[in-house]
Amino acid sequence: MTQRRRALIVGGGVIGVTSAYYLSERNWDVTLIEKDSIGGGCSHGNCGLICPSDVLPLASPGAIRKTLAAMCRGRSPLYIKPRLTPRLWSWLLKFALRCNPRDMIRSANGRMALLEPSMLMYQQLFDRLEIDCEWQHRGLLYVFQSLKGLDAYSSTDETLSEEFGLISRRLESQELHSLDPSLKDSVAGAWYYEDDGHLRPDRLMSEWKRILTEAGVQIHENTEMQGLDVRQGTVVSAETSSGDFDADAVLVATGAVAVQMKRQIGVRLPIEPGKGYSITMSRPSICPEIPMLFPEHKIAVTPMNTGYRLGSTMEFSGFDTRINQKRINLIRKSAEVYMREPFGDELHEQWYGWRPMTYDGLPFIGPVPSMKNLFVAAGHNMLGLSMAPATGRLVAELMSDERPFIDPTPYRIGR
Ligand SMILES: Cc1cc2nc3c(=O)[nH]c(=O)nc-3n(C[C@H](O)[C@H](O)[C@H](O)COP(=O)(O)OP(=O)(O)OC[C@H]3O[C@@H](n4cnc5c(N)ncnc54)[C@H](O)[C@@H]3O)c2cc1C
Repeated sequence: MTQRRRALIVGGGVIGVTSAYYLSERNWDVTLIEKDSIGGGCSHGNCGLICPSDVLPLASPGAIRKTLAAMCRGRSPLYIKPRLTPRLWSWLLKFALRCNPRDMIRSANGRMALLEPSMLMYQQLFDRLEIDCEWQHRGLLYVFQSLKGLDAYSSTDETLSEEFGLISRRLESQELHSLDPSLKDSVAGAWYYEDDGHLRPDRLMSEWKRILTEAGVQIHENTEMQGLDVRQGTVVSAETSSGDFDADAVLVATGAVAVQMKRQIGVRLPIEPGKGYSITMSRPSICPEIPMLFPEHKIAVTPMNTGYRLGSTMEFSGFDTRINQKRINLIRKSAEVYMREPFGDELHEQWYGWRPMTYDGLPFIGPVPSMKNLFVAAGHNMLGLSMAPATGRLVAELMSDERPFIDPTPYRIGR
């Protein structure tokens, strides 16, 4: 009998757990180590949107100008802490150079290659594995306060439909209010992408933990990888806070923290932590049923069966662990502009997470150059939840030397 190959996965976020699932499906003997608890990182309190409609990367024509203008007004949802780290400035420069139509579409193609199959795979996984995570397939509303904003979005909508076949409906104020009475009358209208969906991310993560345990994956929480024992380009074991783990292949899926792991993995991944916040509450009495984005204020609203979440803002302030009350207040104030009843009575949680941001909006997925059995899956930006199943499958195929179901070139390390 041939011995099963042993995979060690470092990081128990949504990318680590889906990779573990697809590897164990391929008969790997999988061990997953997580320095805190499964789903305790950025995958915990995000907005829960599975949204192919958000395919365009942040680096787009005019992004720098719009951001600077908003920052000067002092109420920008984007904040860059003035720091003299060459790492951040190099990242920003590369980001700025990609703010053109050609690079935007190139990145968006790579993003869609993960987003589209993921949506389908999620629905199959939910049915097959009976995953209870408050999944709802009700679409996503891009709501605009001003008619100018609503009209201006038509060029984005055109790009989405022409380049990616994404179909939406423009809803004028009256139609929008009859669809969703939770919005104020002053709101101008919305673009409705009916194919998107949403779920409760912490529920999804606890379900993944159950499923992986049932599948025989060895999960070690409170176990931090500290180093790798590499011999002639091959990792033989990982040194962790709970001892050494031998492996035939290692996957690093540590989200934004991957940038700090150059010493362990031998490459510096250009990932910046883009800190975002969410506020989870009980459902207000006039609660929306369809999730919403407010592009003019960069806020998301997610109604869930067991709660209601406001989220967003993007802070480039390094690995700062404080909850900045000013940012939380900005989210609250923005929600007040749109919602008749913007808050629920009970506050359940105020949370932050570090989005793993890459300058081109694409994740890093694949083998580490010059290493025989070390792989990375990190840098999923604002869409890690939406891209997870396809990422997990791609990782499992690459690690198993199978022909990948999508072209992995856009995600290669060292691009
Ligand atoms: C406010 C907000 C809203 C968002 N909304 C959405 C959304 O609606 N839809 C969407 O698709 N995406 C959304 N995102 C983005 C999404 O949350 C991330 O892209 C995704 O969670 C990244 O997953 P990950 O597994 O790569 O990282 P994480 O979830 O951060 O997982 C990495 C794990 O690695 C562990 N780790 C780190 N170092 C070590 C080590 N040395 N040893 C062991 N373990 C280690 C960490 O503890 C962590 O648990 C949002 C993010 C934010 C902040």
